[in-house]
Amino acid sequence: MTPTSGRIPTEALVDGQWLTSSGTFETRDPARDHVIATVSSTPPELVDRAVASAREAFEAWRAVPPVDRGEILMAIAQALTGRSEEIARLISLDSGKPIAQARRDVQSAARHFIFYAGAVDKFGGRELPLDTDHVTYTRWEPRGVTGHITPWNSPLSIPCRSIAAALAMGNSVVVKPSELAPLPVLALAELFDEADRVPPGVFNVIPGLGATTGAALASHPDIDSLTFTGSVSTGAAVMKAAAETITPVSLELGGKAPQLVLDDADLDKAAAGCVFGIIRNAGQSCLAGSRILVHASRYESFVDALVSRFQEIQIGPGIEDPDMGPLISKDKRDQILRQLESVEGTVKTGGGIPDVAPEYADGYFIEPTIVTDIDPEDPVAAEELFAPVMSVQTFESLDDALDRANDTSYGLSAGVWTSNLSKAHHAANELRVGSVSINEYPVRFYNGPHGGYKQSGIGREQGIEALLNYIEIKKIGIRL
Ligand code: NDP
Repeated sequence: MTPTSGRIPTEALVDGQWLTSSGTFETRDPARDHVIATVSSTPPELVDRAVASAREAFEAWRAVPPVDRGEILMAIAQALTGRSEEIARLISLDSGKPIAQARRDVQSAARHFIFYAGAVDKFGGRELPLDTDHVTYTRWEPRGVTGHITPWNSPLSIPCRSIAAALAMGNSVVVKPSELAPLPVLALAELFDEADRVPPGVFNVIPGLGATTGAALASHPDIDSLTFTGSVSTGAAVMKAAAETITPVSLELGGKAPQLVLDDADLDKAAAGCVFGIIRNAGQSCLAGSRILVHASRYESFVDALVSRFQEIQIGPGIEDPDMGPLISKDKRDQILRQLESVEGTVKTGGGIPDVAPEYADGYFIEPTIVTDIDPEDPVAAEELFAPVMSVQTFESLDDALDRANDTSYGLSAGVWTSNLSKAHHAANELRVGSVSINEYPVRFYNGPHGGYKQSGIGREQGIEALLNYIEIKKIGIRL
């Protein structure tokens, strides 16, 4: 079934037990349209059981001294690293991601555990000076049962960034991976099970469909916080469900990242960076730099440079480590092709299905595509496509570029290409996004906060800032 030597479970992990359900769903290899595995679909009754077991286990887990929790998280990081190659192959097979990018996904996942293992005994409350008659201080306490609903595009590192932070702060976890690539989180569950150091019920995995398993978790009355990563529309549904019980949410949602190429940019580096920024994971990244804004004086030469680079991109199954793999599903690929057929603009390159080896003819491949002369209101220019499609538009001045870059309901990320330090800092100050990358795209660091302005989300994951999602803050005052 899988390229791994260890067992890859296909059941739910609830209260330390692997449980099958009568309902199942299939997960497919997007490079071949083959079924890789048939996975149990967790029904709402079993979601209830998972939450109840997490509630019970929470009391034991919060009592584990922080330094011991840190050691356990470090052991999980080591287990991930020890099996990194086989888990990377699994990620590549299940999501279509090129193997080099899948290896990076495992590395990031392990780093999240290492980071929070180190943070666990370094952050807490603080003393608040009042007067000599009182002692006043705050305590950080775990929230309780945390729900995690995760996407398929980085199917291990995204779940791990919030799971590790939640566990570090003493919370228990119930995680629902995406039905489109559930196997990496199930492999992680196997590592937890094998490590045998986490009390049963502290870490539960409930594979299943978004509309049933995901919705049951999002609306569960006994969840103390919800972390969601996915699309804006599903994020809004999750937030509505959580509102019924005033459950706090952390939402990491979509983006439509602009790339500003100023008149003084190194065009070669900017072209290479903009190409990488859109073909990485076949454009299926929340950070995908899909909106290129280039100074009018450099437009022709920049488009030529992009087109010639696009035409050299090698496309194939992720496991063979091409530049770009397939999209996640046939429906998604066909929807993008339809959008490109009716786009109000010029398709300079791409727009179709590429030639691949005959054994991959049923895979969900698409050509990397550049659209110019586009109406900025066209969905290809304005909406997150989650595909290797970039639009190129021009601007006349930096202020004009910044206005256009900010003229969107998204606010996750942006790139700036310039050799002028003052312009770089000015742009970084003015862009209404959660992260700005300058002269490389994207600059990624696992130890900094990640999140969006506007409809790209609420709150931050990763880094010290994310710990606030997983704690309650209590204030205590003592009269001496
Ligand atoms: P979706 O919103 O389709 O799904 C995300 C998760 O929500 C999946 O586990 C899905 O389950 C589940 N889900 C679906 N419907 C419901 C529901 N009604 N209630 C509860 N859960 C539900 O996103 P994708 O998986 O397609 O991921 C792509 C999106 O994620 C893009 O918009 C991308 O920008 C965003 N993203 C954001 C990141 C960030 O850090 N800001 C990082 C990575 C991606 P199922 O798959 O089983 O339907």
